[in-house]
Amino acid sequence: MKILIPILFCITLSGCDFSCSGKPKNTFKANYDENYAFEVIQKYEKFGPKVPGTEAHKNTGDWLVSELKRLGATVVEQTTTAVTFDQKTIPVRNIIAQYNPKANTRYLFSAHWDNRPFADQDTDPLKSHEPVPGVNDGGSGVAILLGIAKAVQGMDLPFGIDLALWDAEDWGSPHNPPSYCLGSQYWAKNPVPANYHAQFGINYDMVGRLGSVFPEENYSLKNAPEVIEGLHRAAKTLGYQDYFPTYKIGPIVDDHYYVRELRQFPMVDLIYMTQEGGFPPEWHTHLDTSEYISRDVLKVVGQTSLELLSEQK
Ligand SMILES: [Zn+2]
Repeated sequence: MKILIPILFCITLSGCDFSCSGKPKNTFKANYDENYAFEVIQKYEKFGPKVPGTEAHKNTGDWLVSELKRLGATVVEQTTTAVTFDQKTIPVRNIIAQYNPKANTRYLFSAHWDNRPFADQDTDPLKSHEPVPGVNDGGSGVAILLGIAKAVQGMDLPFGIDLALWDAEDWGSPHNPPSYCLGSQYWAKNPVPANYHAQFGINYDMVGRLGSVFPEENYSLKNAPEVIEGLHRAAKTLGYQDYFPTYKIGPIVDDHYYVRELRQFPMVDLIYMTQEGGFPPEWHTHLDTSEYISRDVLKVVGQTSLELLSEQK
């Protein structure tokens, strides 16, 4: 992804050092481990392009499930099939990792984990029909989610956290937005757990490249201004405000769009796009590798998200 289309509407536990159970209060905002996040990126890359229906896709999915379980999450898988714009029937495997699954108050963090089956932005015509590595476009969001899992594991949380790894986001046709985001579209219509609701959600897509900043995506701004504001506030607290400029981009039809439309809770998309409306030059090419991934950018995104979470009750 991404495709732009014109859309017509175009506790804290302050005051005590311990929670009710007597365990230390949550301090996870300080614990984002960007080195672990980068290890995730490297492992993700080694599997090869994660195109639905391939061995690399199956093996990566199995690894993600086992890693999230190792990090103490309750993992639920949702499998189905979908028909792509080019009439291929593909397996779809959404992976949902839950912390404190019984809590009613929940927060959702999501990213797609699949990779695009063709490098249609590649200047080499011989390569344009081959799948992309998708390390920023796929892997960076995965690294943010697993980093959050590592940061919150074992904590006595005052709320629930869900990490959703969407499948089949990137097998789409340019200028046909609904042909993308097949995994999140299916989940939004058939959520697991049933009747899923969160206080808010954040979707991450292309959030690891060197030099990335995260402007205000128009659909997010319209439907979840308080989350955008919260991210700006959290970034400022951490001294990361320059990474969250106030220029506008989009609207972008990404996974957050379908979740917001069908589940009706505020959801934003963190995605790097230049002020001129361009994605990184490696986007949908064979150059989207770990060579361009920045530990610092991963840390900014992960830590700002945890800072915002630490303000919630
Ligand atoms: Zn993409």
